[in-house]
Amino acid sequence: MKLILLAFSCVLFVFSCNTNDKKIIDTKIVEASVDTIIQDTIIQLKNPHLSITKDFVLGKFDYKNDTTFVKVDTKHSLKVVYLQNEVYKVFLDMVDSAKVAGVELKIVSGTRNFKEQKAIWERKWKKYNTLEPLQRALKILEYSSMPSSSRHHWGTDIDLNSLNNSYFNSGKGLRVYEWLITHANDFGFYQVYTEKDNNRTGYNLEKWHWSYLPFANKYLEFYNKRIINDDINGFDGFEQAQKVKIIKDYVNGISKKAKDYK
Ligand SMILES: [Zn+2]
Repeated sequence: MKLILLAFSCVLFVFSCNTNDKKIIDTKIVEASVDTIIQDTIIQLKNPHLSITKDFVLGKFDYKNDTTFVKVDTKHSLKVVYLQNEVYKVFLDMVDSAKVAGVELKIVSGTRNFKEQKAIWERKWKKYNTLEPLQRALKILEYSSMPSSSRHHWGTDIDLNSLNNSYFNSGKGLRVYEWLITHANDFGFYQVYTEKDNNRTGYNLEKWHWSYLPFANKYLEFYNKRIINDDINGFDGFEQAQKVKIIKDYVNGISKKAKDYK
């Protein structure tokens, strides 16, 4: 009897090790790295080693020439998009799973670095030039990030299918959203800009923005330990960063579920 039980345990052990083993290994290495080397400027993550530095979380790097980033196949995107390799692999698993359910996922936007975010921000800064500086910043911040404060810098966040909440309220868009709400978390993707309940601050509701939390939460942890308002500069209106509480209310203005993610 003992032998039978032992054999059964071994089978269970082997089975559990094979299930999603890649994702588990990645997450464990990320955790170990952040805990043990958080005092240093550079944190090494998994293979191929991606360094977390202040410049990385602030978007000041060239993802197009970074071997840990990859160009998304155009059949999965509506424009040229780059993501972190590992994030893309998991995204492709999610695409396959959604496809079985008749749902098509297309990336509208992925990684954006400081320069690209600065272009978006300054275009809007000019557009709202009749407003006082603080109101001008708050208006842009309804849906767009200040450079150096965007999760899109990290290669972990994607905008899916449409940049209009109304698209997801009926028909095909509703089916996409319902599928994502039900299944995306199983792949590590979470909607971070939910309704502003549970005292969520910051950006308005974005049904299209999904974040790969196994990595993104580690970057946020690093960000909160190492980045201060003075690190956010180099664009029109950067002086408003402190007044709008960019780090407290926006960088950390994510859903409770995302904050609680471990
Ligand atoms: Zn987004």
